[in-house]
Amino acid sequence: MPNGHHRISGPRGSELQVVVVGGGVVGVCCAYFLARRGASVTVLERDEIGRGASYGNAGLISPGHPPINRPGRVVQALRSLGDSLSPLYIEPRWDPALVRWLWAFRRFCTHDHVEHAMAALAPLGLRTVEMFDELVGAEALDCEYRRAGYLEVFDTGPGLAAGREEAAVVERHGFAPEYLDGPALREREPLLGPGLEGGWAHDEGSVVEPYRFVLEMADRAAAHGARLRPQAEVGRIRTESGRVTGVRTTAGEDLAADAVVLATGAYSPGLMASLGCPLPVQPAKGYHADRRRDDLHTPDLRVPCLLGERAVFCSPMESHVRFAGTLEFSGRNLDLRRDRLRQLDAAARRYFEVDDLSDPVSEWCGLRPCTPDGLPVIGGVPGYEGAFVATGHAMLGLTLGPVTGSLIADLVVDRTAGLEIHAFRPERFAGS
Ligand SMILES: Cc1cc2nc3c(=O)[nH]c(=O)nc-3n(C[C@H](O)[C@H](O)[C@H](O)COP(=O)(O)OP(=O)(O)OC[C@H]3O[C@@H](n4cnc5c(N)ncnc54)[C@H](O)[C@@H]3O)c2cc1C
Repeated sequence: MPNGHHRISGPRGSELQVVVVGGGVVGVCCAYFLARRGASVTVLERDEIGRGASYGNAGLISPGHPPINRPGRVVQALRSLGDSLSPLYIEPRWDPALVRWLWAFRRFCTHDHVEHAMAALAPLGLRTVEMFDELVGAEALDCEYRRAGYLEVFDTGPGLAAGREEAAVVERHGFAPEYLDGPALREREPLLGPGLEGGWAHDEGSVVEPYRFVLEMADRAAAHGARLRPQAEVGRIRTESGRVTGVRTTAGEDLAADAVVLATGAYSPGLMASLGCPLPVQPAKGYHADRRRDDLHTPDLRVPCLLGERAVFCSPMESHVRFAGTLEFSGRNLDLRRDRLRQLDAAARRYFEVDDLSDPVSEWCGLRPCTPDGLPVIGGVPGYEGAFVATGHAMLGLTLGPVTGSLIADLVVDRTAGLEIHAFRPERFAGS
């Protein structure tokens, strides 16, 4: 038995067999915690492990970060129609699912909802702070993990005012952002320019190289007995009399399972619909541009920074600084648009003291799975015993990956979660 774990049994008396569909950060974390609990786990990933949204994200663990829903977001979204330099961009085109999603999103852009969403997310975020320390320590994860905190900076009055409102919400839910004026921010990160109005230090934040984190977690899941199978796409979830019996791959292979966990990120709606559970997850494309730290024309930051008005994250990693951001609603595609990448460069020039900017060594885009209420979807799928889903983490999938994995393991093994997860129930969108 790997690492001396005991095996647990499934409903038919034999080992509890679990198939996790999707090998991104969420699926791999589910597999890790399930294997640690003694389940017999197989991860099926249609591509390579960790090459989806989890590959090139900003690497920031930001446990107190609120969801994208904010009062005024809809007006901002409408203004962005056709403006390719806005951080939030909606491509003008006819897409009924997106129109329905935006309509639903609009309902969730209120002060009351932001408060409700933070109340639901905060216990997961607070658990996350210690969880990364524990995981990285116990499993000796080699993933460039640093408890560096991060700075959220603004260079306009309205930006700072919006930041202040957000900081107040976050504070009400157990986090402690520290206000810093321009000079104090520059003391912490000397490369920031002189025009800053102010911002906040989020000391609970940390940073990892996200792909390495996924690969390391996949390796530890395997050490606990999980099987990871790349190039295996699930085409169908098999069910019988209201319970899950396994999956069929698109290559026609049948795998039996007592439980199936869908962790298919932005691609989740199809398989969820086949279980009769509509999931309005829209893909929100984000980009990164990496610049070598040893290039003279790269702002070689000490501290990760969130450039507030432009919503661009800058994360110093071992060999490069990653600039990542933009929220583009243009469908389920991975087209790399130059004008969106230029938005990242424009942000770097605006907030940092740089005369010239080095050429990127990597440019990439990925799809965040976004729900209209800004909350993830974590729970059992109603109507099918043994069907579970873990997706919709939007900008927080890396941050909340481990806690989501542990919650799913609790649900599959104990049938109850260790934290309150009612707000994340999959059926909340039925009939909307
Ligand atoms: C630019 C950018 C910056 C970001 N920055 C941060 C950040 O700093 N911090 C943070 O916490 N989050 C960040 N995020 C969000 C984070 O990357 C996502 O929330 C997270 O990666 C989602 O993980 P996932 O496992 O759900 O999805 P994915 O990583 O996309 O994994 C889903 C996997 O499922 C597979 N799959 C789909 N369908 C099937 C099928 N039928 N059969 C088998 N496999 C299937 C896919 O191939 C894919 O590998 C950022 C995102 C972007 C784009």
